[in-house]
This record gives sequence, structure tokens and C-alpha cells, in this order.
Amino acid sequence: MPQLPCEPTPVPQASVSRLRPYRTPAFALALALLVGVCLATVLGVRGLVESRDWVEHSYKVIAALDQVQSTLHGAEAGARGYRLAGHPGMLAEYMANMEDNERAREALVVAAADNPTQLGLARRIDALSETRIAELQRLVDIQQRDGAPAAIRAMRPAESVAAHQVFIATSTALRAEETRLLEERLGTSRRNAVLLISFVVLGLAVSLGLMIALLRSLTVENSRSRHLEAEARMAIARTECAQARAERLGAQRQKLGAYAGMLQSCQNLDEAMEATAFTLRQLVPWLGGRCYVARASRDFLETAAHFGQEAVASGDLIAPGDCWGIRRGQPHHVDGHSGGQRCAHLDHTGSLAGVSSLCVPLVAQGDTLGMLHVNAQANGNEDDNDVEMVTSVGEQLAMAIANLRLRETLRVQSLRDPLTGLFNRRYLEENLARELQRCERRNLPLSLLMIDVDNFKRFNDQHGHAAGDAVLSHVGRTLEALVRGEDLACRYGGEEFTLILPEADAATAITRAETIRRTVAMTTLLHMGQTLGPVTLSIGVASFPADGATPEVLLGLADASLYRAKAEGRDRVVHATATS
Ligand code: GH3
Ligand code: MG
Ligand code: MG
Repeated sequence: MPQLPCEPTPVPQASVSRLRPYRTPAFALALALLVGVCLATVLGVRGLVESRDWVEHSYKVIAALDQVQSTLHGAEAGARGYRLAGHPGMLAEYMANMEDNERAREALVVAAADNPTQLGLARRIDALSETRIAELQRLVDIQQRDGAPAAIRAMRPAESVAAHQVFIATSTALRAEETRLLEERLGTSRRNAVLLISFVVLGLAVSLGLMIALLRSLTVENSRSRHLEAEARMAIARTECAQARAERLGAQRQKLGAYAGMLQSCQNLDEAMEATAFTLRQLVPWLGGRCYVARASRDFLETAAHFGQEAVASGDLIAPGDCWGIRRGQPHHVDGHSGGQRCAHLDHTGSLAGVSSLCVPLVAQGDTLGMLHVNAQANGNEDDNDVEMVTSVGEQLAMAIANLRLRETLRVQSLRDPLTGLFNRRYLEENLARELQRCERRNLPLSLLMIDVDNFKRFNDQHGHAAGDAVLSHVGRTLEALVRGEDLACRYGGEEFTLILPEADAATAITRAETIRRTVAMTTLLHMGQTLGPVTLSIGVASFPADGATPEVLLGLADASLYRAKAEGRDRVVHATATS
């Protein structure tokens, strides 16, 4: 029985990311680093391109110088060959180299234009080359005009050597300077490349690290959001569950309230049992059970109502000792999951595994009036409120049974005379008219007996009031024993009794009155060790319809007859009109 259908599953705790306050600055830093890396890459690449241009420029200067030197050297070789061999091929070679040299010089001057020092040296080389070419051309012109010997004679070797040395020195200076510049540029380019790579790698590493940290922080945050979301969902589920439970409880309370009202209106135990079974079917339809009511002897409890389908049958008639609830005087609940001490009134031939049971003793003012028993297969769908509900029903039922019993006792007390157990005068007066009407409707007679104990005052005086009470009680029991089921025996007051005999005419009534008179007259009583002498009765009889038709008339006539019986010597029966 006791399982909550919507017990929430606990949500695991999620921590808040420690990086949360640094997330924005870290993101900004990572972004700045990435932008920096991009800018540095663009600028660095541009710088590298520039450096490469400068390196290429140096190579170009050196190449131009090489070209100047080689073409000059070629022109010299061609001119010399032509001088020595006179071969026109040599002259052509000279001419070609000379032209090339002119172009190479121009290229050198242009290439060195950026650097004033180098430009100076290039111009000097240009001038030296031009002078040397002019010298060679002079010798070629002499040879063509005057022949080779004249040209050889016209040579100025010392000047040529000096000019050549100056040319070599100048070329070397230019080359050395350009080589130095080249190395310097290569070094700068390499340093810049290393710096750029370092910056890019470092920037990327730092921004990557920051991104990873951010990602991690976001993941933590995300899982926290999911956790909070799950918690919110759980809270909603809990609220809905509590609401449903509150509604269910509200409905159950309403039914319990209606049940309490029904119980108050019940006139007898059967109605109370019917109301209880009906209410339990409504409240806890998944439970089966029964209501037991204690017998007057209190030795057994018997089934008074069934409801639902019991998972395990409980006995129809059970002894109080068979139930732990009755023995302990409090509800005894055995949970289907955890088990417990089973009551002996449950059928042990059936399996009790997984069966929940509850025995609620119906106790009022320490008196066990019955027991309410329910059981069901514990399948986890029911609410744990069942125990509370059934116990509440049991408490109300116990109170209702006690009230009904009290009401019955009061009713009996109000209608019966406590000394004799006979109906009292009020009851007589209420029922005489009704019985008369009934007999009148059915054309049946009715007789009324007015009985008075003879000389009772004297009896009291002789034997005491207690003995007198014993006699009155005995007369009452005798009357009770001698009347039929439909007759009414009443104590009219004092030592006077009245009998209503429906359907009895005067003759029958006189016979019955005689029987009563004789029976009492023949009985002696033993009271407190003393024998009480027989008492006699005087009886006045009146009959309907012969003597009268109203209660007042009949009572008056019976009383008058009684008076006559007394007057005639007591211990006799006198009828109002008939003669015995
Ligand atoms: P009679 O034969 O004329 O009826 O004489 P009596 O003495 O019976 O009549 P009376 O009405 O004078 O006396 C009735 C007596 O019955 C008086 C009273 O003490 C006694 N009595 C009335 N009610 C009770 C009672 O409940 N218990 C006892 N012990 N005596 C009662
Ligand atoms: Mg009297
Ligand atoms: Mg009397």
C-alpha cells in the first residue's frame, strides 16, 4: 500500500565554473590575440616579402657587378685575341662583350641607385670600365688602321695594370659592401621570420588555451544550466505531484466528511456497515477487506460487511486473539515490501508474499467493538495515505458503533423499566392507540389487563423494600414469559402492570389473566437466604370492541375492574363486562 507514485529522483549537484568572472576578459584577450596574430602575420609576411626584395636587390647588384666584370674581361680577351691573331671572330667577340658591358654598367648604376655609397662605387666602376673599353677601342682602331704591330706598340701596359687594379679594388669594395648588406638583410629577414613565427605560435597557443578554458567554463556552465533545468522540472513535477495529492486528499476528505454525515444519520449497525463498505469502495477501491463486529459475548468478532477484493481472505468469524491490532489496541500495518507480523485471521494457505494488510481495531472508551481489516497486493501504485484513510474510517466507525449502542441503550432505557425489564407506561400509552387502530382496521379484538400486586405495602413492610423489588422483578419476568411475541407487557407504575393482548377477545384475555394469576400465586421466591411467601395478583380486564374503543376508556374500564377485584377480595380476575 504505502508507495508514493511521484517521489522525485534527486538531481546530482553541479558546480559553478570558477572561471565565470574572467570569462569576458579572457574572451576579449583571446580575440585580441587572434586579431594580433592575424595583423602580425600580414605585417610579418609583408616584411618578409620586403626583405626578400632587398635580398634579391643585393643579388641583382652583385649579379650586375659580375656581368660588368665578365663582359669587361670578355671584351679584353676578344681585343687581345684580335690583336694577337687578327681573327675577325675575336673582334666580333670583343664588340659583343663591349656592348654587353655597356648595358651591364647601366644596370649596375641603376641597381645601386638606392645606396649612395654603392652608387658612387658603381659610377666609379662604370667610369673605369668605360675608360678601359675606350683604351681597348683605341688599340682596335690602331690595329685596323695601322696593323697589329702598331697596335701592340701603342699599348700602355703599366697604365692598364694600374687601371685594372683600381677596377678590381673598386669592384671588390662594391661586392664586399653588397655582400655585407646582403648578409645583414638575410639576418634581419631571418630574425623577423623567427619573431613572427614565435609571436604567431605563442599568440595562437595562448588564445587556444583561453578558448579551451572558455569552452570548459561554458561546458561547466552548460551542465549547470541543464542541472538547474532538471531541478526546475523536478520542482514542477513535485508541485504537480503535491497538487494532485492535495486534490486527492481533498476529495478523500470530502468523502470522509460525507461518510461522517452518513454515520450520524444511520439508525442501526447494518446501515453503518453499509455506509462504511460504500465509503471504502469509493476511497480506496484498490483495497479489499471487511468490517467485523464484536458479539455481545465479546468472545468472537463476526463479519458484518465486505468491500473490494481481498488479496488474502480473512476469516468470517475470528477470535480477538487472532488479530494483532485488537491485541495491541492500535492499528496494525504490515507492509507488503518490508513485511511484518501477520495476523492469524488471514488465510495462511494463500501466499502472503507482497501483500500489505491493515487491521484497525474499533475501540471506544476502552471497549473493543469490532475491527476493520483491509489488504491488497502491494504494487507500488497506491498512496501511503491509505493507512491514514482506513484508520480514520475505523475511528469514525468505532465512534458511530459506540453512539449507536449508546442510543439503543438510551432508547431501551427510555422505554423500559429497569427493575422488571418490561416496557414503561410511556411506551404503553404510545403503543396502545396504535395497536387498537391496527386491530380495528383488521376487525380483530384487543384486550387490556391491569394487574396489581395485592397487599404489597404490607409485603414491603414485612420483608423490606429490596425483597419487594425482587418480587416485582419476578412478576415482570413471569409476565414476559407468559405473553406472546405480539403482546406488550408494561410496568404501569409502582406494583401495577399492564398487558396489551392484541387479537385476544374477553374469553382469551380472562384465560391468560388466570394463567398469570395462578403462576405468580404458586411461586415462592428465595431472596437473601429467606423464602418470600407467594404474592397474589388482582387483575382487571377490558376488551375492544366490546367494552370500549379508545385507550382512555379501556384503561379506565380495566382499572375499574381491578378495583372491583380488590373489592371482591383480591387474588382474582374481573372483566369489565364479561363474567368468568
Ligand atoms: P392493595 O392490595 O390494595 O393493592 O394494597 P397495596 O398495599 O398493594 O396498595 P398500595 O397502593 O396502598 O401500596 C402500594 C405499595 O407498593 C406502596 C409502595 O411502598 C409499594 N411500592 C410501589 N412501588 C414500589 C417499588 O418499586 N418497590 C417496592 N419494593 N415497593 C413499591
Ligand atoms: Mg396499587
Ligand atoms: Mg397493590
